[in-house]
Amino acid sequence: MEDYFARSEQLDTRLHFANSAEENNRCVTGLLLQRLPNHPGASEAECEAAQDAWETLTALSATVTNSELGKLDVQTLLHRLFHEYPCVLQPPKSLAYQCTCNSDRTDSTLMMLGKDDLGALLIEQGEITVDCEFCGHRYSYDASAVARLMGQIDEIAGATNDNPLH
Ligand SMILES: [Zn+2]
Repeated sequence: MEDYFARSEQLDTRLHFANSAEENNRCVTGLLLQRLPNHPGASEAECEAAQDAWETLTALSATVTNSELGKLDVQTLLHRLFHEYPCVLQPPKSLAYQCTCNSDRTDSTLMMLGKDDLGALLIEQGEITVDCEFCGHRYSYDASAVARLMGQIDEIAGATNDNPLH
């Protein structure tokens, strides 16, 4: 996950997790520390100070124990780890898991390759698969699905050629 944030969001991120295997309280608690980009107008000194603070905060967060993370309430945990820094506790938000990937989007991505590359990929691999790196869903395209995409590419090209402005 740290790698995902570094590559996709380009944000330095540290994560710590604690799990409780107690019979009546099976849960995972996480602490996510993320460094937001420097203010566009920040001076070199301000950027260096922010980097120093980030290094100190990540070192402090790395001292958290499984028991602290699993058992302490948020306010107590923040105070214990980061009491030398001003902390603001935001009201909790409920989360829901969802991914924005869908087959239309995958179709468009593949169609951008063009008919020649799609045909070559199909011959090389037998079917074309696209894996969503976020949720892990696999979109598979067999020969008939690739033919459908090629038909759509032709339709778009035809529509463009019929346009009197072109
Ligand atoms: Zn997805």
